[in-house]
Amino acid sequence: METTHLLQLAEEFGSPLYVYDAAKIEAQYNRLTTAFSKVNGLRINYAVKALSNISVLKFLKQLGSGLDTVSIQEVQLGLMAGYAPEKIIYTPNGVSMEEIEEVAALGVQINIDNLSILEQFGAKHPSTPVCIRINPHVMAGGNSNISVGHIDSKFGISIHQMPHLLRIVENTGMHINGIHMHTGSDILDIEVFLYAAEILFKAASNFKELDFIDFGSGFKVPYKKDDIQTNVEELGKKLTKRFNSFCKEYGRDLTLCFEPGKFLVSEAGYFLARVNVVKQTTSTVFAGIDSGFNHLIRPMLYGSYHHIENLSNPKGKERFYSVVGYICETDTFGSNRRIAEIKEGDILCFRNAGAYCFSMASNYNSRTRPAEVLWLNGKGHLIRERETFDDIIRRQVVLDFDAVPALAE
Ligand SMILES: *Cc1c(COP(=O)(O)O)cnc(C)c1O
Repeated sequence: METTHLLQLAEEFGSPLYVYDAAKIEAQYNRLTTAFSKVNGLRINYAVKALSNISVLKFLKQLGSGLDTVSIQEVQLGLMAGYAPEKIIYTPNGVSMEEIEEVAALGVQINIDNLSILEQFGAKHPSTPVCIRINPHVMAGGNSNISVGHIDSKFGISIHQMPHLLRIVENTGMHINGIHMHTGSDILDIEVFLYAAEILFKAASNFKELDFIDFGSGFKVPYKKDDIQTNVEELGKKLTKRFNSFCKEYGRDLTLCFEPGKFLVSEAGYFLARVNVVKQTTSTVFAGIDSGFNHLIRPMLYGSYHHIENLSNPKGKERFYSVVGYICETDTFGSNRRIAEIKEGDILCFRNAGAYCFSMASNYNSRTRPAEVLWLNGKGHLIRERETFDDIIRRQVVLDFDAVPALAE
């Protein structure tokens, strides 16, 4: 979408504002399905936690997507968006047996990632099909906060515990219909991914009644021009070949699943904020915006890079700025960035603001959260209203201290 459209949307809906380009989401979805078009059964389950607006979920449903969820609330959002329970997989970590049972009762595919719950669930519900999450202990990603397949990760059942796992399955008579891995975000090296896939195939051959193999996600998206990204097309070629040969060995066609979040929505998102103050100090020029890490926490949480540009003065002379938020502690979006000259009142745009941006926003500093807009067919559609002070106060219980009985002397 054009930056002039973004500027218009900031005028129309106010700032700060999240904008999502539906055409980009669709292009990414199609890129993935095209790369894997030679697989007999392909299923893309969008990872809801990346961006969980119901209208975005509905849009992805139109494209044919399923959902990957990590909480019962995400399951409920998916059902509200019109997904059939069979189109939803639930991959929680460290949740209670009660929540897993509740989700299974809705008809949603459950994915269990520890032996304790597997044993309890298998004993109580032996006929409910269960997918198991394997940890192949392959270090696939760059950032240790988002790489979850390594040896000391809390995710998944260690591949080394396969004998114990098989004993539980045999003793309970439970039905394992899927096998899953998710090695974390930012997979750069396709060979590492294919290596992990081999471990998963080997694990899969232990089970006779599989319907699907789920390779999780972790596709790396570009954050800057010429940034490295996962070569989805090459992965598609190589994994398809191997997957199809595995299905032959296995004796029937299985469904190949992926559960991308970032890949589908990261680049579709734009975060727009207005400059409140330009502050020259002895060493730096700060541009302070009408937002903070309460709205976009990734730079402070992971050191993530979000490209920043000045929409109000696109042809202006470039200068160096540190772009900071209004939260009362260190709150830096980017240091020493070359940006076209900024004046107070200008609208800045942050790229890659689709995944893990609004979904991680909070009310810290008692600030309201921004509105969200879906850009579809040349028009901005409001898909979440800007919060008001009422949203901040709604759940607070205001004690009347005059009515509280005094302590007896
Ligand atoms: C977060 C998550 C994903 C999505 O990861 P991305 O890097 O956003 O693609 C997929 N599967 C599971 C189980 C997850 O927890």
